[in-house]
Amino acid sequence: MNGETEIGGELELTVSDLKQWAYCPRIPYYRYVIPVKVAPTYKMRRAKETEAAVQALEVRRGFRRYGLERAERRFELYLRSPRLKLSGKLDLLLVTEKAAYPVDFKDTEGGVRYNHRIQLAAYALLVEEKLQLPVPLAFVYLVPTKEVASVAVATKERAEVMRALQEIRRMAAREAMPAPTPVRARCVGCEFRNYCADIW
Ligand code: SF4
Repeated sequence: MNGETEIGGELELTVSDLKQWAYCPRIPYYRYVIPVKVAPTYKMRRAKETEAAVQALEVRRGFRRYGLERAERRFELYLRSPRLKLSGKLDLLLVTEKAAYPVDFKDTEGGVRYNHRIQLAAYALLVEEKLQLPVPLAFVYLVPTKEVASVAVATKERAEVMRALQEIRRMAAREAMPAPTPVRARCVGCEFRNYCADIW
């Protein structure tokens, strides 16, 4: 193992890092390599309020929309894998006798996106390690439409999580600023926009 791999391999990461890496790889760079300070945005504050409101609604509902007869609900579950050096707080976990199903609340328009999928695949890995139960499927609860969308967390998605972990650690070890997201619309409301002078 070379020095770069050792340093990068030790870096403790979060599920949010994976989501942000998929959204724009510069965000984990600013977090781990620079790192820069940003004030909590309106979006972040609203996310907290939304979580509380969805939790209150969720406990009054049945499980049919998840395709389950019954399950135990565990809200705001902290998960950490010493093996993956990865942690995160899951909005909701549905647990049955035979399996577990992560649920992420998203206050977003436009349905489930790639960065949501990678986040849920990471939660699937964390849940399986902690509970020793299989995770066959995960869900996104889309707050604006109150819809539940199922998300695959199969071999392909899990491999993408492993690859992203490796890439983030490699980036941090090399201290190499990644290319900006090609989706420039994301830059408009980004809290790091002042640091990305090269794209304006
Ligand atoms: S301003 Fe754009 S390129 Fe820079 S971190 Fe934000 S999303 Fe990424």
